[in-house]
Amino acid sequence: MAPGVFVVGTDTGVGKTAVAVRILQAVVRSGRRVGGYKPVATGIPTAAEPGGDPVRLWEAAGRPRSLHEVCPQVFAAPVSPPRSGLAEGRRVDDALLRTGLTAWQSMDMVVVEGAGGLFSPLGHVTLGVDLARDLGLPLVIVDAARLGGIGRTLCAARAARAEGLTVAACVFSEVAAPADRRSSDPDRSIARQTAADLAALLPEVPVTILWHDAAEFDPPLDWWALAAGLSHLADVPPPRPGAEP
Ligand SMILES: [Mg+2]
Repeated sequence: MAPGVFVVGTDTGVGKTAVAVRILQAVVRSGRRVGGYKPVATGIPTAAEPGGDPVRLWEAAGRPRSLHEVCPQVFAAPVSPPRSGLAEGRRVDDALLRTGLTAWQSMDMVVVEGAGGLFSPLGHVTLGVDLARDLGLPLVIVDAARLGGIGRTLCAARAARAEGLTVAACVFSEVAAPADRRSSDPDRSIARQTAADLAALLPEVPVTILWHDAAEFDPPLDWWALAAGLSHLADVPPPRPGAEP
């Protein structure tokens, strides 16, 4: 199994794809072979839709293998995958959500972009959390760089750990161009403070920011090393008070 990360949002529309794209590009720059995998996409008529998530992931990785292998399941209606499938008389293939990753096992790393949040339905019997666990990948939790990020991100991180998942990193993604591009921009100051405060609350997890249209994370992270160190490991639950060692 190739090491990898599973990119999950605190909500839909928080900048997951932008984060996945920048991770892929950073790993490519480091000279490693990397693939992007989108188990299921909705809201686009085909995987080849310009600007759609599958094309963006494929191009960021340097167009390895095939676009169909990046995203084997695509539905048009911009709703949850099971609902989108039903709208066109089809069903999400829950098994294929998992087996589709095998196309990427010969790479040095795979970056999986889920759909929506940790508990969003990806298939008829598969939530995001189920797929991340079955793929054995640590999470990159993405939240939008706006007020409320500590609460939203801690909610996702603690829920992930309660489900036995590992959190590799947290990213605040600036989804729109700032009103004021100066470094003193108040929204950017809030994002920096939020990232610093979250880092203090999650001291073992790297926290970074992806500014709008920035090519690199602030600060940059070694994504391959994070993935390689954490993939396919189950979190060992903390000892219960009073339990025998
Ligand atoms: Mg996306």
